[in-house]
Amino acid sequence: MSDSYDVTRRFILKGIMAACLLSVSRVGFAALTQMVAVRVWPSSTYTRITLESNIPLTYHQFFLTSPARLVIDIDNLEVNSTLRNITTLVQKNDPYIKELRVGQYKKDVARLVIELKQGINPNIFKLKPISEFKHRLVIDLYPQKKAKVDEDPLLGLLENFNKGKLTNTENDTRPTNKNNAVVIVIDPGHGGEDPGAIGYNKTKEKDVVLQIARRLRNLIKKEANMNVYMTRDEDVFLPLNVRVAKARSLHADLFISIHADAFKRREAKGSSVFVLSTRGASSSAASYLAQTQNEADEIGGVSRSGDHYLDHTILDLVQKTTISNSVLLGESILNQIKHVNPLHKKNIEHAAFSVLKAPDVPSVLVETAFISNPEEEKRLRTSHFQNQLATAMLKGIKNYIHRRKV
Ligand SMILES: [Zn+2]
Repeated sequence: MSDSYDVTRRFILKGIMAACLLSVSRVGFAALTQMVAVRVWPSSTYTRITLESNIPLTYHQFFLTSPARLVIDIDNLEVNSTLRNITTLVQKNDPYIKELRVGQYKKDVARLVIELKQGINPNIFKLKPISEFKHRLVIDLYPQKKAKVDEDPLLGLLENFNKGKLTNTENDTRPTNKNNAVVIVIDPGHGGEDPGAIGYNKTKEKDVVLQIARRLRNLIKKEANMNVYMTRDEDVFLPLNVRVAKARSLHADLFISIHADAFKRREAKGSSVFVLSTRGASSSAASYLAQTQNEADEIGGVSRSGDHYLDHTILDLVQKTTISNSVLLGESILNQIKHVNPLHKKNIEHAAFSVLKAPDVPSVLVETAFISNPEEEKRLRTSHFQNQLATAMLKGIKNYIHRRKV
């Protein structure tokens, strides 16, 4: 999670300046649309193209065949070097995009041509400015071919989410659990368009938490009677609800979301563990953290067609056992982590994190260390510390399994 307080202030200042500029420009000439950044995020599930501009883009889209192309015409836009640069961003192994081309189709219409490798279903939507981002047009490319049932349930869940059909009763896609193994889902926070917190030396939270999560997964894989899955194993953005839905769909026995903390004071340091609170946060810091954390959806880009099924009604159904098991899991992990890093808070904290809201899966959120603290940022990057954290989390999980109420 990140400290967005300063960001917000900077944003307000920027907003005031922008408003002044805008009032000047309205007198003389219409505001020019300018492309300020373009990004391509390939992943095995879907590929995302993000076009970031100073004002919202107006566009229309259509398909052309032989070869298959998705064409997006953007009004009132002159092709600049930023947009032209998009052609260099496609990776050879992108599952969906063969090539990107841009051109000035008409005097005031820029054209983006996406040449495709396979049949796709596009999901195109706009996002309003948030955090450091300006207006964004997001083009998500999903495969037309359905994944086989025994494969990762992620694609199906994302599709349902986009259609507003992500419900509380997802189909059981659980792989056959022959040995009654404990199912553990590890959730590396953030990803893709959402970097999470960024350290003084530019370390991104999304990268270190993925590395730690992979180490924990590899340790769990060696254990008998444990099955392990990850919500993401790539640099991909996933909505918070989809992370939770994936854990539920795999019938997880426990869910562990891995993060790195940030605060405006560089001295802040230490590890903490959070569990869901239905009655409000245990401290104002916890409430603030939950608020910034839950913003990940808007930063990463969620089309608002998504059905936010984890609303208060469902929250009210959270079973007492789940919460008390979450507390037990949180305490077990905290008791181990304290041996590898000083604790930020000596007790587990309670907060209303969206990612902890699976009604029937004991869930915790681990803030491994403060990425905003230069010392801890440095440690977070080392394989030694990453292994220590992963080992501590595994010990905590094992202790929990012995003590949990079933
Ligand atoms: Zn985070």
